[in-house]
Amino acid sequence: MPLVIAVDGPAASGKGTIARALARHFGLPHLDTGALYRAVALAALRAGVGLEDARALAPLAAALDLARLDDPALRDRAAAEAASRVSAVPEVRAALFRLQRAFAAQPRGAVLDGRDIGTVIAPDAPAKLFVTAAPEVRAGRRAAELRAAGLDVDDGEVLADILARDRRDSERAAAPLVRAADADLLDTTDLDIDAAVRRAIELVSARLGQSF
Ligand code: C5P
Repeated sequence: MPLVIAVDGPAASGKGTIARALARHFGLPHLDTGALYRAVALAALRAGVGLEDARALAPLAAALDLARLDDPALRDRAAAEAASRVSAVPEVRAALFRLQRAFAAQPRGAVLDGRDIGTVIAPDAPAKLFVTAAPEVRAGRRAAELRAAGLDVDDGEVLADILARDRRDSERAAAPLVRAADADLLDTTDLDIDAAVRRAIELVSARLGQSF
């Protein structure tokens, strides 16, 4: 069985940084699946397509190129907000499902991070983490990131964005954000990034046993 590591969790929980570090540690390719939803959202915004328009969104999702996920505009607040809307459209999820499954099926294995990796994309993954942190802590981290990128942000607005996204991602009918029953919980509220990465490597190594 390929070594698939599933990393899920809410916005700004640290899951992306943790997933990249796990990929380096275990020598695996990594896919940030949020970038796929952001890319569909950005393509829709640029094409003037409605964010609930399933018929127009599905071909945009099917045409995504995994090699072109480095547009800096993908990191904007507008792309994040629009991503959480297009991600509720089942036809978008279905188109991206195939891309993600193919990435996870590479013979060496892979690390994928997102919202539904352990529940829908790779339910048989031998190692799953659900990474979370208190909303205020996640908002503080996201605000610091945005400030470091030269943006002028208001902490209250960043927290409101995060809470709105949490709610939309958790309450949607299609593949809602939920911890898989067999996922290890990693709460990063009181951990800095080095400590969170160390803990993630410990949890995954324990799941994989001696074989890796
Ligand atoms: O992880 P990131 O913040 O980049 O994700 C952007 C949005 O994409 C999320 O708020 C969520 O709505 C959606 N998403 C998803 N399923 C995934 C990854 C992201 O629905 N596997």
